[in-house]
Amino acid sequence: MDIELAKCDCCGLKEDCTQDYISQVKAKFDGKWLCGLCSEAVRDEVNRGKKPSGMEEAVKAHMSFCRKYKSNPAVRVADGMRQMLRRRSGDVISMEVSS
Ligand SMILES: [Zn+2]
Repeated sequence: MDIELAKCDCCGLKEDCTQDYISQVKAKFDGKWLCGLCSEAVRDEVNRGKKPSGMEEAVKAHMSFCRKYKSNPAVRVADGMRQMLRRRSGDVISMEVSS
């Protein structure tokens, strides 16, 4: 299998991936390759349906989210995202309870 070094378009994380996997991810995320954590966050964004134009907007929103964290060296991007995902899954649970 052909292994390539893919770089996340959001947080810049580099990962060794098969070319198949790279093109699968790019097809899903508007031609951009996202690492596992970022694709999780973007999928979460799309699933919430807050972005009317779908995937492209969700990718853009997440990229600016990453940039915001990267510009603050005190906060690690991965930590910020984990917190965001945790908070969001909390939202989902409370929404389910109230409906
Ligand atoms: Zn990433």
